[in-house]
Amino acid sequence: MKIAVLVPDGAADLPLDQLDGKTPLEAANIPNTDRVAVLGATGTARMVPAGMPAGSDVANLSLFGYDPSEHYGGRGPIEAANLGISVPSGWTAFRCNLVATDSGRMLDYSAGHIGQQEAGEVMAALEEKLADEQTRFHQGKSYRNIMLIEGDYSGLECTAPHDITGEPLEGNMPEGPGSERIIELMKRSRDVLRGLDVNERLAAAGRPKADMIWLWGQGVSMELESYKERFGLSGGVISAVDLVNGLGRLMGLRPIEVQGATGFLDTNYAGKGQAAVEALSGDDFVYVHVEAPDEASHIGGIEEKVKALERFDSFVVKPVLDFLFEQGDFRLLVCPDHPTLISTLTHDASPVPFAACGVGIPEGGSTSFSEAEAREGRFRIEQGWRLMSYLSGKSPWPA
Ligand SMILES: [Zn+2]
Repeated sequence: MKIAVLVPDGAADLPLDQLDGKTPLEAANIPNTDRVAVLGATGTARMVPAGMPAGSDVANLSLFGYDPSEHYGGRGPIEAANLGISVPSGWTAFRCNLVATDSGRMLDYSAGHIGQQEAGEVMAALEEKLADEQTRFHQGKSYRNIMLIEGDYSGLECTAPHDITGEPLEGNMPEGPGSERIIELMKRSRDVLRGLDVNERLAAAGRPKADMIWLWGQGVSMELESYKERFGLSGGVISAVDLVNGLGRLMGLRPIEVQGATGFLDTNYAGKGQAAVEALSGDDFVYVHVEAPDEASHIGGIEEKVKALERFDSFVVKPVLDFLFEQGDFRLLVCPDHPTLISTLTHDASPVPFAACGVGIPEGGSTSFSEAEAREGRFRIEQGWRLMSYLSGKSPWPA
């Protein structure tokens, strides 16, 4: 049996006056996604456990079928996995942003989206002058790098640098057990980076300098049972987002690169749909994640969100559904990871609507895929990570 999970990131929303009281899913013309709801079961699933942050990493971990309250330990180890960096047992992986500061304030959490070459020079200087037996620096992508440090720093409270743009650094530093060491590294990084050649060049070009590191998003090494062991499935992940690919790698799934998959509104939807069909030709499983509806929500783009959902429907859901019908036994799930609300421009932790169809999945009487119909649907899955157990057949589909 072939199994496909299709994820329109942040698709779920609330009714909007600008859409005559409809949600973006209700306003969008999505006949293929509707068909999944008509042919199969609908309901809601809570992907973000109570008390956890409504991040895409937590929510996608649930959707992949792992309980975040048991397995999630921060984005650091997931990003490290995606970069092929193994976190030794007993060590902690931190996200190490290269940031630009000014007079003790956070100027830019990305050091002007520093280029790969420049970031490489900065990380090399840090590894040379700040690393020791217990502390290592690894280059990632642009401003998004990794620091590994021996010990368990998971109890530390750190602030994301993109949340404090323009704010003073003091008062936003890490707090809790072990914070002295982490703060010391952040402060010492300023001495290492001040006057560095690459920073002189950036300044001369009128660009922000990478004059400090900001450590956050930490977690201890994260080991997940592989997909093969857990669900008896092997296959691939299609996403432009590092965190989603990193989760896939931790589960032994193969990240499949698609040309023009940007993670933004202009992403290559058709390329993703095509890659999904190709993956399913050989493997039994594919997980397709499209970031665009989430991006549209973060900028309050109602029209863009509706358009992103329609493209996802035409260019991802349709080819996958058509292919699965042609080739035989299958199960298909369409489910956002979390709602992203146009009204707040941010993620929400409430349960998401889902629709699943295929062998052994009962018909539920829905007429379309929407938040309201899903709430009327037959299934209410409080531990959303169990949905994948049902879909894979590891557990029987609930009665
Ligand atoms: Zn998300």
